[in-house]
Amino acid sequence: MANSTITTQCCIAGGGPAGMMLGFLLARAGVRVVVLEKHADFFRDFRGDTVHPSTLEVMFELGLIDEFLKLPHQKVETLSAQIGAEHVQMVDFRHLPTHCKFVALMPQWDFLNFLAEHGKRYPTFDLRMQADATDLIEEKGRVTGLVAKTPDGELTIRADLVVGCDGRHSILREKAGLESEDYGAPMDVLWFRLSHKASDSPDTFGHIEAGKMMIMFDRGDYWQCAYVIPKGGIERMKSEGLDAFRAQVVEMSPFLSDRVAELKSWDDMKLLSVAVDRLKKWWRPGLLCIGDAAHAMSPIGGVGVNMAVQDAVAAANRLAAPLAAGRLTDEDLQAVEERRTAPMRFTQRLQLTIQQRIISPVLKTQQRPKPPLFLKLFGVFPILRRIPARLLGLGIRPEHVQTPEAPPVLEMSRAVSRQRESASA
Ligand SMILES: Cc1cc2nc3c(=O)[nH]c(=O)nc-3n(C[C@H](O)[C@H](O)[C@H](O)COP(=O)(O)OP(=O)(O)OC[C@H]3O[C@@H](n4cnc5c(N)ncnc54)[C@H](O)[C@@H]3O)c2cc1C
Repeated sequence: MANSTITTQCCIAGGGPAGMMLGFLLARAGVRVVVLEKHADFFRDFRGDTVHPSTLEVMFELGLIDEFLKLPHQKVETLSAQIGAEHVQMVDFRHLPTHCKFVALMPQWDFLNFLAEHGKRYPTFDLRMQADATDLIEEKGRVTGLVAKTPDGELTIRADLVVGCDGRHSILREKAGLESEDYGAPMDVLWFRLSHKASDSPDTFGHIEAGKMMIMFDRGDYWQCAYVIPKGGIERMKSEGLDAFRAQVVEMSPFLSDRVAELKSWDDMKLLSVAVDRLKKWWRPGLLCIGDAAHAMSPIGGVGVNMAVQDAVAAANRLAAPLAAGRLTDEDLQAVEERRTAPMRFTQRLQLTIQQRIISPVLKTQQRPKPPLFLKLFGVFPILRRIPARLLGLGIRPEHVQTPEAPPVLEMSRAVSRQRESASA
């Protein structure tokens, strides 16, 4: 076991969508960056597989879209729902002013591996797996680095900037004493898979009945199902037994009756404890939080991954040049927060409204629900379906890649990216 110290320009804690995209963009712009991910790989089921048109547009701007779309994915061009007895068409992405007019459903580990592989083309990109950031280093009120646990011992990283991309349970934001505001959520979500058959209807998406809600994504070989339950309701469901849960799933989608037995235990399901929160301030001198670490999103609309990517693009646009030149200021960090606050607040407000006006009443009611008038209008005037498509697919103030590309000179030794690493026993 050895303790070692690295000095770099930017240290990112967390290899999720926010951290990997920011690490990739900064390294691409020639900034020396170390990304720490506490797990040994990105392979975890389930962590949000919706790659929206805004993220696909970023991949296009990076010149990577053709290669990216070679990875296995399913295209979602429209979204519909069954509300009680009525079927409503809700969203149509096919008219967006983007190169990809659809949501790509792709395992998040493929997306993250893709960014990791492309990051490695740049000599200043240093991704370290199994590196768990545990504490911040502070000097005179400024964050100057962090400490991480690795299989080889403690790793100290000194950096001009530390970025917390360590998700909704961010250790960095806690250590920095950044305060968050919690907006609550009336529901949790049980995620599980059931096999898909060629005879299944391709467009099943959401189904709402009295006290129940289930959303299904066609993933080719299987259905990715999200069953919405009242907040904290998992223990009650477990006490009612797995058979009762299987029966509820079949009630929502009768065609699943021949395969619902694939749910053999509660371990076949992953519980997402839904949270909506945001930091009052995203930064302190030397430290910035983005993605879920700055604002946990509700799963409504599947925007979490894409908000994290948008944060990363905005942060790279603003920070790459001052980081490369060694002249980063607090104003730069404040500018990132200001740029991303309005889109994030707008999206969270929309999610909170849907939670309060639709999900909460549905989970409590005993009466068969009917679609609200505005959704009925979507059926009569298809053009209206473009509005939610724009809000979901692109969001407010979509970000565009403005960072330059430094030459990906692989022959420059990895030692350059590993920077003045010194080992001491
Ligand atoms: C079950 C579930 C389903 C979801 N479904 C969707 C969906 O369908 N669509 C959607 O858009 N969003 C979905 N989300 C939300 C979405 O996953 C997040 O909003 C998004 O991943 C946020 O990205 P992030 O990079 O900020 O954080 P995260 O994706 O949470 O990534 C944080 C990373 O940091 C690592 N990490 C944590 N602590 C440390 C540490 N101390 N040191 C080093 N590394 C650390 C973690 O291992 C992780 O890889 C879902 C979330 C969950 C949990």
